[in-house]
Amino acid sequence: MNWLKNFVRPKLRELVGGQKEVPENLWHKCGSCGQMIFHRDLEKYLHVCHHCGHHMRLGATGRLNLLFDEDGFEIIMLPKAIIDPLKFRDLRRYSDRLKDARAKTGDDDALKVGFGKIKGNNVVIAALDFSFMGGSMGLAVGEGLLIAAREAVSRHAPLVVVPSSGGARMQEGIHSLMQLARTTIAVDEVKQAGLPYIVVLTDPTTGGVTASFAMLGDIAIAEPGSVIGFAGLRVIEQTIRETLPDGFQRAEYLLDHGMIDMVVPRAQLRKTLARVIDLLMNKTRDPSQVLKGIEPDLIREESAGDALPLDAHTDKADKPLPPDIELDNISTGVIGHGS
Ligand SMILES: [Zn+2]
Repeated sequence: MNWLKNFVRPKLRELVGGQKEVPENLWHKCGSCGQMIFHRDLEKYLHVCHHCGHHMRLGATGRLNLLFDEDGFEIIMLPKAIIDPLKFRDLRRYSDRLKDARAKTGDDDALKVGFGKIKGNNVVIAALDFSFMGGSMGLAVGEGLLIAAREAVSRHAPLVVVPSSGGARMQEGIHSLMQLARTTIAVDEVKQAGLPYIVVLTDPTTGGVTASFAMLGDIAIAEPGSVIGFAGLRVIEQTIRETLPDGFQRAEYLLDHGMIDMVVPRAQLRKTLARVIDLLMNKTRDPSQVLKGIEPDLIREESAGDALPLDAHTDKADKPLPPDIELDNISTGVIGHGS
């Protein structure tokens, strides 16, 4: 097939002409459909490809900006964690890798925590950044989540966590594995205080993060197409020697199989979170009250039925419903399967 590469491609380039001169940072190539997206369009569509709907990864700061109200939010300072507790070295020193990641992202570690409002509701949001060493969870992330949980409890606000991570940070060995238990306890503190814990699973949510706080949400929301799983697809295939079904470990597959509650496009995340928080925090008994005070466009969206397939999950409720609520009337269907 070399003639394709060596002959046809250069000829095509010549015909199309000029494309190589375009500065790379102005155009972004969609990882799914391969279409070029102008940087302004990328911002406008919240880093979702407007050709194919592919949701690209978003950093932690981008997440906080996306979810909080426009009037800003407060960044919660996280304590400095012990650096390189095992003096670990593979091909390079872990401390050097950490330095590089810090220089590249300008952040101390993979987690950012903020306190602010989503459509007027107080909320603490903790977001992981995949661009910082694959969003991996070490001591710093574990500590950060604990701070986020305690902040939520002290401010009597729900905790929203947005994972985007390959799992535990291998370079911290047992210390990173201990964060599985630690973050589980952190989440439990929020639940014990009677506050909602909501996860927004994004691409990818895998490994130790899936095995701990990411799957413990009272409400589990996911972005379309996100890979969510514990072990990787190839590893499973090699172990069980079977071909896995199409869409395996994707958000939609997990929704079909009852692992998550909703798949929500990025543009509707804020509205959905606001509605869920409003319902859970205000303990509104009459579902029609939930829609009061929310902008008319959301109500229209709901009646158009493009918001979210939830009815299948109401049977997972671990608490009996108050007698005055009819299941069919709950448009939001936010019955937790967590604590
Ligand atoms: Zn695309």
